[in-house]
Amino acid sequence: MATPYVIVTTWRFGLAASIRGNEVLAGGGSAIDAIEAAGNLTELDPEVNSVGYGGLPNADGVVELDAAIMDGPTHAAGSVAGLTGIKTPISVARKVMLYTPHTMLVGDNAKRFALQHGFADERLLTDVSNERWLEWRANQSAADVAHFDTGPREGLTELTPDNHDTIGLVALDSHGNLAAGCTTSGMAWKVPGRVGDSPIIGSGLYVDNEIGAAAGTGHGDEMMKAVVSFRTVEAMGRGLTPTEACVEALRYLMRKRPPESFNNYGAALIAVRKDGDIGAASTRSGFAAPDRLWQWAAAGEQVPAILNEGPYCTPTSLISSL
Ligand code: ASP
Repeated sequence: MATPYVIVTTWRFGLAASIRGNEVLAGGGSAIDAIEAAGNLTELDPEVNSVGYGGLPNADGVVELDAAIMDGPTHAAGSVAGLTGIKTPISVARKVMLYTPHTMLVGDNAKRFALQHGFADERLLTDVSNERWLEWRANQSAADVAHFDTGPREGLTELTPDNHDTIGLVALDSHGNLAAGCTTSGMAWKVPGRVGDSPIIGSGLYVDNEIGAAAGTGHGDEMMKAVVSFRTVEAMGRGLTPTEACVEALRYLMRKRPPESFNNYGAALIAVRKDGDIGAASTRSGFAAPDRLWQWAAAGEQVPAILNEGPYCTPTSLISSL
């Protein structure tokens, strides 16, 4: 029997990706095909400055991309980190999954692998992102730009309204199979070589084909230590709804951090359960800035419209309920 299909993505800019993924699902396509097609749409959009082409660069002005994909039926996953020059890293991640005996490739060798598989080496920095980098750099001290020469730092990388926003994706197809994906340029101005949560299986994304799928966005240096996507799926396995499961995983994350640090970071999760129920939660409604609401999007057979308003987009603020 056909199950309801649905695709859910993080952020408002995920609307277009959800529509694209939904086209694949509506045609009977697999969840993993929908995730890849949806991820590619955002990666190739130069207007989205936190994913793929047009993403903001690291402190050296180099765009370093992280991406991963996970397939429910085979429980296989592929991932790339610190990938440069390739516009569609989620597709490279899928090739890692399909054509290597491994799960994750990084840096220059991830690029070498991509080139061997026919991906083009292209300039990812747009004029706009280059301008933004030059502007950032002009306001840094020499020590800040040098990064590795500075002493130990206290606290978190500051999350500012414009220095992040991964697209996390989860989908259920009409055959009852699940998949998840995550693709990002990571935190803008990051220390070269820094890898966030997004390409880490269990942190940026996770799927258990018998239970559900989850993916995240937010302060990856914190989220990866709480393995939040795995926690979300595991919680759905204990009977929690997708929203309850996201909330539980984020509560765990917040219990492990000093409350004053909440002002400096945010984390958000999306989830879909095997039966098609969907949910999401965020640590704050104003994500990095009060005027920047956490939003997520979905499209599918029983989700009649793109959900950029109404209950599906209502931010779940955990701060007040701690
Ligand atoms: N999670 C991403 C990272 O830390 C950033 C984001 O989602 O905003 O690289």
